[in-house]
Amino acid sequence: MITKTPTEQGESVVTRHAPSRDLPLMEAFYTLQGEGFHQGRAAYFIRLGGCDVGCHWCDVKESWDASRHPAVSVSQIVAGAAARPGRLAVITGGEPLMHPLDELCGALHEAGFRTHIETSGTHPLSGQWDWICFSPKKFKAPRPEILQKADELKVVIYHKSDLAWAESFAAQVRPDCHLFLQPEWDRREQMLPLMIDYVQQHPRWRVTLQSHKYLNIP
Ligand code: SF4
Repeated sequence: MITKTPTEQGESVVTRHAPSRDLPLMEAFYTLQGEGFHQGRAAYFIRLGGCDVGCHWCDVKESWDASRHPAVSVSQIVAGAAARPGRLAVITGGEPLMHPLDELCGALHEAGFRTHIETSGTHPLSGQWDWICFSPKKFKAPRPEILQKADELKVVIYHKSDLAWAESFAAQVRPDCHLFLQPEWDRREQMLPLMIDYVQQHPRWRVTLQSHKYLNIP
């Protein structure tokens, strides 16, 4: 994009901006954050298509192929968010860091939003974040730089052995990072008793549930 700005002398100064990049938008909706530290807060979710992590229990497999989702401009995405009263935007996926997110974050901040991301940390970090929820997955290793940037570590527990795996990340995040264990939805009945006992013995952790599924909201 090129902008012409008239000077006092009546000339035009030509500024070249980086071309605006559209993003594959799977869905965007206003709801309550259902999980983790900010559970219960009104939030505008922006779900971007594309994920190469391949969790077998993934509940948004339709997000994986980015080409199945329409390319939408940042300004359109932000306009949708700004039409709602809340000013918290959660960028999720898919794996949102498969896309450069500086422009989206910049536009959301300009519109008065706080920006939160939910990521597996498997791609380079872009964007400016008020909150990073890092949710590592066993199927693709995260990049090391996410560990010290995470505000929240959220580990999905599918099997008892995932508790030890969760501890391996807890040992690498910042001391002020908030730690959450979340049962995989279809395994919650088997995993929750173990997790409750584990948190009682290891109180740095908290249990979080996918409360939006109980509340029947998106
Ligand atoms: Fe699904 Fe998230 Fe795993 Fe990707 S990282 S496969 S979107 S659960």
